[in-house]
Amino acid sequence: MQLEPISGEVTVRTALHKSSMRTILLMFSSLLCCAFAAAQQDLATPEVPDKFNLDMEAAARLNPKLMTQSNAASGRYATGRLVFERLVEQIRAPAGVKFTWQMRIVDDDELNAYSSPDGTIYVESGLARLAGPSTGLWAAILSHEIAHVLRRDWARRYLYQKNLENGGGSAIVLGDPSLPSASWASSEKASADMGRFCRQMELEADREGLMLMARAGYHPDFVPALHHLLHARGIGTNRATLYAMHPCWEERDHELSRAYVVASIEFERRWPEFYASPGGNPPVVVFAEEPTVRKNSSKEWEIQIPMHCQNLAGAVEVVLHAGPTHGKIARLAHLPGSDEAGPDDVRQLTGCTSPRTTITFSLVDTAARQKPAAPWTDVYVLDAWGTVLARTDLPKLPR
Ligand SMILES: [Zn+2]
Repeated sequence: MQLEPISGEVTVRTALHKSSMRTILLMFSSLLCCAFAAAQQDLATPEVPDKFNLDMEAAARLNPKLMTQSNAASGRYATGRLVFERLVEQIRAPAGVKFTWQMRIVDDDELNAYSSPDGTIYVESGLARLAGPSTGLWAAILSHEIAHVLRRDWARRYLYQKNLENGGGSAIVLGDPSLPSASWASSEKASADMGRFCRQMELEADREGLMLMARAGYHPDFVPALHHLLHARGIGTNRATLYAMHPCWEERDHELSRAYVVASIEFERRWPEFYASPGGNPPVVVFAEEPTVRKNSSKEWEIQIPMHCQNLAGAVEVVLHAGPTHGKIARLAHLPGSDEAGPDDVRQLTGCTSPRTTITFSLVDTAARQKPAAPWTDVYVLDAWGTVLARTDLPKLPR
């Protein structure tokens, strides 16, 4: 799906069925761009010229249809609407642009959110339910989308793409002027460049979203908490492309580490008593690194998982999960024998108190372990209620 200018107008070539609408709206969903390669360097993102309004025209054209396919955020989604209103109060819109802020729910059970250039934020119902009653998770979702609108990323992306089609020079001077136009001759290179550009816009929206959250009273740690929940559901990892280099969420958290610090300082300055902030206390956030596996003897392995926990008072449970549910679950029941807990799961509790805690499992091969159907596949870190705080892949055990 592409937007194509004809006589100064934007026309949409494909029929506006539901999935194509989502593609039009971009777009800047947290989930579409991130599978692309890491930005090796900062690309200059195009500034939107004063009189540019193709983005607003496109939004006006698409709005009626999108309205019929979504609902006002009320009832069970009222928490989201309240958070949205609170975030919008903090916004200082750029001069000369008028946004019509509203939030809509798309009832399709998907785990995504996207924004229209006019200020309408669409949250798909799967993601809305994942946020549930957590004002902080709602703030993490919405602040990122609001940042895309304020930055006019739809327009930036459009201008970047035009620059791409024009061979990197000509009337629209954008991006990196030193970029050789030949790079656009190769469609593979062009999509790699677009992927990098897209990723960079995601990170910039993340950064601005973090500051918006902090000002409105939601701790920035709700962002990695959301990323980890999505990662545990396999979102952001199963859209791997030729250009994918790393699991998206870990990399994104890593690249944002400085932005988290800056936003946390701002939050603490404005909300010295965390519990009294609109988002309440910051959530427990667990960063689990890639496990290392060592074979100690012919039937014995040692698995080490380095972890870092934030805001934890109490303990978390680390589970080596065996079974076919690889990367698809957000909750693991504590009781072995339930639907999601595999009978071969191995568990241990940790207070995770040091800045770098290492959990060690010593595993002995058993007859059951020989069955190829039940290898250990994932490491999950759970809170006391069984909610997944982190997930990471377990490398294959050497035979
Ligand atoms: Zn985004």
